[in-house]
Amino acid sequence: MTKTVNHWIGGKTVEGASGTHGPVTNPATGEVTTKVAFASADEVDAAVAAAKEAYLTWGQSSLAQRTSILFKFRALLDANRDAIAELITAEHGKVHSDALGEVARGLEIVDLACGINVQLKGELSTQVASRVDVSSIRQPLGVVAGITPFNFPAMVPMWMFPIAIACGNTFVLKPSEKDPSASIKIAELLSEAGLPDGVFNVVHGDKVAVDRLLEHPDVKAVSFVGSTPIARYIHTTASANGKRVQALGGAKNHMLVLPDADLDAAADAAVSAAYGSAGERCMAISAVVAVGSIGDELVEKIRERAEKIKIGPGDDPTSEMGPLITKVHRDKVASYVEGAAAEGCEVVLDGTGHTVDGFENGHWIGISLLDKVPTSSKAYQDEIFGPVLTVLRTETYEEALDLINASPFGNGTAIFTRDGGAARRFQMEVEAGMVGINVPIPVPVGYHSFGGWKDSLFGDHHIYGNDGTHFYTRGKVVTTRWPDPADAPAGVDLGFPRNH
Ligand code: NAD
Repeated sequence: MTKTVNHWIGGKTVEGASGTHGPVTNPATGEVTTKVAFASADEVDAAVAAAKEAYLTWGQSSLAQRTSILFKFRALLDANRDAIAELITAEHGKVHSDALGEVARGLEIVDLACGINVQLKGELSTQVASRVDVSSIRQPLGVVAGITPFNFPAMVPMWMFPIAIACGNTFVLKPSEKDPSASIKIAELLSEAGLPDGVFNVVHGDKVAVDRLLEHPDVKAVSFVGSTPIARYIHTTASANGKRVQALGGAKNHMLVLPDADLDAAADAAVSAAYGSAGERCMAISAVVAVGSIGDELVEKIRERAEKIKIGPGDDPTSEMGPLITKVHRDKVASYVEGAAAEGCEVVLDGTGHTVDGFENGHWIGISLLDKVPTSSKAYQDEIFGPVLTVLRTETYEEALDLINASPFGNGTAIFTRDGGAARRFQMEVEAGMVGINVPIPVPVGYHSFGGWKDSLFGDHHIYGNDGTHFYTRGKVVTTRWPDPADAPAGVDLGFPRNH
């Protein structure tokens, strides 16, 4: 018996009318548990129309009205952490504690949105000329859309919609078709919190739904998070259609380890950041760059720790790492390990044969660790997005920096060292959007923005934080004069206005 996930349009569940559905699989069992409706262009139009209608009043609502609803939503989200985490584990496969972490990080952005009144404070300059004042204000855009990836089905949508709706926009979300249930739970909680119908809508589907959002004349801005090829496509297509776009892409995050680093701390960090969520994180560490003579010792410390990771279903509290999202993805990840030796890598751990008793059809893969990985290998060049950590060796800091900066990706990176001068130099010289100093996954807190460089982000704005507020609003500058009745008439003056 499979359940059906439908769209959420105008404050209620709307059954898919196109008749097209996609399967949702429990990655731990390999069973199809759910079918998800795929929207046609007409169904996307209905969601955009509902959002456009709702904007007429939501765009005019007061900050107090918007934030009071967001505060109620925050309380509901807090009370439903476990329920949302369970939905994530059942469709994504990540372990429950990790799913709870994702909800917690999404909640941080709701916190920020509850205080949007501070961020939306305008600027005022008085008496810029005689009895002339100038104010700068920011206003919402209208209907905005979010297109999100499978790996954070709750957090990534929450990077977008809390800020967007707090700023007065209305929102259409197209979540990943692989794990759609969390988005519907969130829609229900928003409704329970008192969000007016049509302010938040969800359409499920694939390229058909995405393409309609990208071309729809009433969609004013598109936020995207996903893989680099699709991010590039979204940016190009939505920009050509005159929309504001932020498109966050894939990653290959490097962790540089200097010889003076605390190698136990570095090994703990590398293992947590590489294998957490089975490596299906855009901020996962996938390449360790060991500088100087420490390589052998560091690899041994990583191996010792990695071998102990307990792999199993995400709803088993003893599991530390769950399965991969699909069988196809599992096989793709395995292919990098299978081809690694022929590419010149030293295979220290090979997880491709891993199985879990009682869950023979799950999308399992064990821990893999590849050492002395050449930069020419596919294992280094591609974003593997699985539990495969590659280790590269360099003689010097400069060589390591050049290697990192030569990568087409520039999402997150980290340096492990006890040397403050080296850390500061790295912070200034590395070409990446987020840098950790003895911090392996430097995902910024909600009030700083998240975003990568190079092929990891297309567009001008990072996501959430001040950049989020700027992305979802546009500026307006108002120049005001209230003449004194005693003033002599100004008379006609065709010269360009000057302030005096
Ligand atoms: P994906 O690019 O396959 O899909 C993302 C979204 O785009 C989904 O909603 C999907 O339905 C849609 N989509 C897929 N193919 C499309 C097409 N041809 N045309 C239009 N829309 C399409 O990504 P994914 O596999 O769901 O997620 C994993 C990827 O996301 C990884 O590359 C990861 O690094 C990246 N990611 C990046 C960040 C970041 O902040 N930079 C965060 C999370 C995930």
